[in-house]
Amino acid sequence: MTAAAPAPAAAASPGRLPEAGIARALLEAELAELCARDHGYGRESVFNSISSAPLPIAAAVYRRFLDRNLGDPRIFPGPAEAERRVGEMLADLLGCPPAGGCLTSGGTEANLLAMSLALDDYRARGGDPARAAILAPETVHFSFDKIARLLRMRLLRTPLDGRLRGDVPALVRRAGAETAAIVVSAGASETGAVDDVAAAAAEAERRGIYLHVDAATGGFLLPFAPAALYDGPRVDFAAPGVRSVTVDPHKYGYAPIPAGYLLLRRAEDERQLHVASHYAGTHDHRTLLGTRPGAAALAVYAALRSLGRAGYRSIVADLFSRRAHLLRLLADAGFTLAAAPDLTVVAVRVGGSLRMLAALEAEGLLASVSRRFDFLRIVVQRHTTRPALARLVAAMARHERLRERPA
Ligand SMILES: *Cc1c(COP(=O)(O)O)cnc(C)c1O
Repeated sequence: MTAAAPAPAAAASPGRLPEAGIARALLEAELAELCARDHGYGRESVFNSISSAPLPIAAAVYRRFLDRNLGDPRIFPGPAEAERRVGEMLADLLGCPPAGGCLTSGGTEANLLAMSLALDDYRARGGDPARAAILAPETVHFSFDKIARLLRMRLLRTPLDGRLRGDVPALVRRAGAETAAIVVSAGASETGAVDDVAAAAAEAERRGIYLHVDAATGGFLLPFAPAALYDGPRVDFAAPGVRSVTVDPHKYGYAPIPAGYLLLRRAEDERQLHVASHYAGTHDHRTLLGTRPGAAALAVYAALRSLGRAGYRSIVADLFSRRAHLLRLLADAGFTLAAAPDLTVVAVRVGGSLRMLAALEAEGLLASVSRRFDFLRIVVQRHTTRPALARLVAAMARHERLRERPA
């Protein structure tokens, strides 16, 4: 034989569907190989993720109810009831009037459904669909880029203020006849900055424009933020101008992925989302997904019920105290911030943020740099322990010194 020996089976043509199913041991080897380079949350190397490991109880519940389809409540009324109760608990948590809503695959789907409602609302107001625009501060989540494309809307970005929060007066000045929706963030994922929801809601209400609050990052943080450490705007999700709110249990709610929730203020918006099934006696759908994980509804239910307010309050207090620890470490190492943080995202000024990012990644430390802003973004989560934060800041300081005094 002149040709090289065939590669071991584990690496051989993994894209082919095998004729005969492979043995369990080989499968385990393939899975181990596939995931060998995953960071996971246990290695203390992840500083760029707003998601973290789910609570063990929520993960166990998810595994137990894997076959439940939330898309067919005739077969599975239980998960549908869990979804409804989760909606009530989330509305109670945020203090929103609980007129309706739905569990989604995450913030993206929840935001998409909200924007589809805003577009319907805009058409009903006589707006020209060809010109429909979403108006939002520059830090609006990039899910809105996808949504604007899918719904054929324009996304108009407005400036930030010195704290990296949306400049609401500037946003209001841009609002006009083509504004189908105003979106503000209660915790932008890039910066953690909390927009002035109250001011935007008042203006939206005055003008009859649909206002959506994206609280995918902050929905589980704001209700529990320790008063002494939170100096961002107070967010009133019940303000009359707020038509819908996105919250993401699979982030700071510690539910397994996938779990988002869209909360709706008006029962008519809830009805507007319904699409009738073809089958008599089968429930309407109101989400983008058809077949969807009932396990997710039950797992969010489990997370909320087992932690309760006290459980979340103590987790969030701990996150804020880790953030304070991180800020001290950064200050001691001579770093300055792009802005004082509102929530658990810390934006640090570094020289050459992309080089710093690459140098950290070469050491196995994952941070992030937004394309728009020249700062290093560090997300504080349950998996970012104090020693892990100390190692990160030490590595940052080392790279900053190397840059300033090249050998
Ligand atoms: C995470 C996030 C989203 C998108 O949610 P997915 O769950 O990733 O689909 C939208 N907005 C904000 C503010 C987020 O933090």
